[in-house]
Amino acid sequence: APAPPDISLSHRFAQEFPELSIPWSAEEATAPRLVVLNKTLARHLGMDPAHLKSPDGVRLLLGNRLPPGATPVAQGYSGHQFGSYSPRLGDGRALLLGEHTDAEGQLRDIHLKGSGRTPFARGGADGQAALGPMLREYVISEAMHALGIPTSRSLAVLATGQSVQREKPLPGAVLTRMATSHLRVGSFQYAHAAGGNELIRRLADHAIARHYPEAATAENPHLALFASMVSAQAQVVAQWMLIGFVHGVMNTDNMAISGETIDYGPCAFMDTFDPAAVYSSIDQGGRYAYRNQPAIAEWNLARFAETMLPLFDDDVEQAVTLAQEALGAFRPEYGKAWLRGMKNKLGLPQDLDDEVSSPVINDLLTLLQEHSVDYTSFFRALNHAARGDAEPVRTKSGSPEAFDAWLDGWRSLGPSAEQMGRANPAYIPRNHLVEEALQAATEGDIAPFYRLLEAVTEPFHEREGFAQYASAAPVSYGPYRTYCGT
Ligand code: AMP
Ligand code: MG
Ligand code: MG
Repeated sequence: APAPPDISLSHRFAQEFPELSIPWSAEEATAPRLVVLNKTLARHLGMDPAHLKSPDGVRLLLGNRLPPGATPVAQGYSGHQFGSYSPRLGDGRALLLGEHTDAEGQLRDIHLKGSGRTPFARGGADGQAALGPMLREYVISEAMHALGIPTSRSLAVLATGQSVQREKPLPGAVLTRMATSHLRVGSFQYAHAAGGNELIRRLADHAIARHYPEAATAENPHLALFASMVSAQAQVVAQWMLIGFVHGVMNTDNMAISGETIDYGPCAFMDTFDPAAVYSSIDQGGRYAYRNQPAIAEWNLARFAETMLPLFDDDVEQAVTLAQEALGAFRPEYGKAWLRGMKNKLGLPQDLDDEVSSPVINDLLTLLQEHSVDYTSFFRALNHAARGDAEPVRTKSGSPEAFDAWLDGWRSLGPSAEQMGRANPAYIPRNHLVEEALQAATEGDIAPFYRLLEAVTEPFHEREGFAQYASAAPVSYGPYRTYCGT
């Protein structure tokens, strides 16, 4: 039988931006093995999952067998990392394989992570990725997608057969992921340094065509690009906050122009509600703490605008005024999106007066913090309370008496259980269960990972046999830490 057709890829970024990319090849895997494949996503790409599982398909997913005409590149970018600027970061262990055009005509990058050292790798960086962290990105990004949050997607994780040296030797892996692009704030910072206004203009036009085509017809298209980005970031960060997600490393090189969540490193889902929650071991100062995420997004957007100023207006002062006005939309838009989402979580009508909704929301958040309540399961239990059974939520709260007055006040507003059911997931990638599943996978047992994936990719549909994915870690588990050394 003839071999199923390979995926066909375009190479617009590589062709249009030789200044921003270096043609490069993936390292040859010694003993490649498919660990997990996203069949739904594969079918959406028009690819046959059975073919992807074959030795040829696996080599394709690793970048070891290129579809005809493929020209993989490592992309250059700069970035503010924890506030300090690095002029040259780039794909140190990643490659853009090319762009796939989906059924709606949208270009989607196919990207490899862990595919070997590139010219952008710094110091002793080995260009490798360990199996655990790649599975971690796979499950968390797919959970985010299922939760309705814009994100890169994961197509597959492949074990390479190589051993990767971390604190101890670990199995090596490649993540094959997709995103509407991998353009970052840091891409613009890099272009600004590499080619000035002319290159920034071309990059901005490329970003408009790919992500915000309506900006092309605006009076000032480049300002409209910035305004669209401000809006997209306000929306996505509001969604993170509502779901209790802490990205962990919101450097400018990890913020996508598209507004998709990208570069899952030391991220985590908050368990007990705590505005100061930080999980990353390297975030000593708490710069990327839960509550700081909106302000950091705004700060990153300002860094983006700085690269674009001459495009906004020939007059520098006028350009700055326009940029500030556009950035000024972030806070109100974020606030509106957050309030809309919080009303959904509480089942409250969208047109409910702020004077009524604000104290209900603020008092609840204060209570959750004071009593260290598990954020996700509390809201899910509140669903049951909206249906009439308040006992689960009283139990979850840990201090029923403290919550009773609040519950009475909230119930008197007639919350809609149906509205709440769509806003409050039962299952999230619980930190302790993620660690357990990755540990098992590293030791050769993938079953717990598949089970976790099954739970979190259908997060709103509560079903039998998945209770552990709906519960907080036992107190004995202790505080959770994530590590960057991936
Ligand atoms: P990240 O913290 O994943 O956003 O990565 C920050 C920068 O470090 C990027 O330029 C990465 O490509 C690079 N990097 C991270 N890990 C490695 C590695 N093992 N080998 C080479 N480069 C890496
Ligand atoms: Mg990154
Ligand atoms: Mg990375």
